[in-house]
Amino acid sequence: MLNRRDVIKMAAALAAAFGIDSLPAPVVAALKAIDPATVPKIIYLQGLSCSGCSVSLLQATQPAVLTMLTEYSRLAFHGDLAAASGALAQETINHYIEGKAGEYFLVLEGAIPAAMPEACQIGEHTLADYLVKASTTMNGALAVGSCACYGGIPAAEGNLTGAVGLREFFKSSKIDKLVIDIPGCSVHPDWVWHTIVHLVRSGLPELIKDRPAQFYSKKVHELCSRYHDFQEEIFAGKLGDSGCLFKLGCLGPDSYADCPTRGWNGTSTFCVEANAPCVGCTSPDFARKKTFPFYRLNENTRKKKT
Ligand code: SF4
Ligand code: SF4
Repeated sequence: MLNRRDVIKMAAALAAAFGIDSLPAPVVAALKAIDPATVPKIIYLQGLSCSGCSVSLLQATQPAVLTMLTEYSRLAFHGDLAAASGALAQETINHYIEGKAGEYFLVLEGAIPAAMPEACQIGEHTLADYLVKASTTMNGALAVGSCACYGGIPAAEGNLTGAVGLREFFKSSKIDKLVIDIPGCSVHPDWVWHTIVHLVRSGLPELIKDRPAQFYSKKVHELCSRYHDFQEEIFAGKLGDSGCLFKLGCLGPDSYADCPTRGWNGTSTFCVEANAPCVGCTSPDFARKKTFPFYRLNENTRKKKT
């Protein structure tokens, strides 16, 4: 049976089979102009997380993940990918977080257990301690996935850890530092890698509600391949039917993300095309309330939105 590290290695090897040549020529030229020696490093920490976002990042195809890691970004530490473990891993993290300011971007996956800091330890320190220290040395932070952005599943109603996202944690710690939110459960690899490349190559991308506008300015509903069915009031009655999934509780009308045009699994599909309603995984409310279940049947009472 494969363990998580085996799966990640296999995903990286598979992803390495793809290159950047399928991208538009100007994008390829911009990527090839990046000098890895001058690129700020990335310290990738994980809080209350299932590691699903890390697994998703390793599915990158444009460019391939190994190209991203070796040529366009410099990943100094990632808990799942680092060869170092134990004291050596701790030294690596300390070297950056307690070192000179301005040498790295912090990426956080997973929520922070604000009411139970000891629930998330990295060596002898809590994640919360590290984040406070990092706020004085990092260039800025990327909150990767809905847990890191808004608390997500670990912050579901009734949770005991007081899980919060990075922005809320910094706010309550009176820390004013750049945080870019990249929500999703899990995130699309392009949303993260393209933001990292933009940051290290051209600086801050355009943001909308603290998220990169390039990916989050339109609703899933507006871009959906079944939008025409919605307009014609052709609705699916059960999962697997053709037609708009609105009456099965689809949250595409409330969710900002470019999934329908970007596509998942190497651009091949997205939730609705796989006959699953959008569950609003990029929304700040995702998975937070008991009254916000993933699937709702025959929800005829929801007000039709355009
Ligand atoms: S409600 Fe869902 S399935 Fe229907 S058009 Fe909008 S996003 Fe697509
Ligand atoms: S379609 Fe909806 S649930 Fe699916 S990945 Fe996109 S935002 Fe998340």
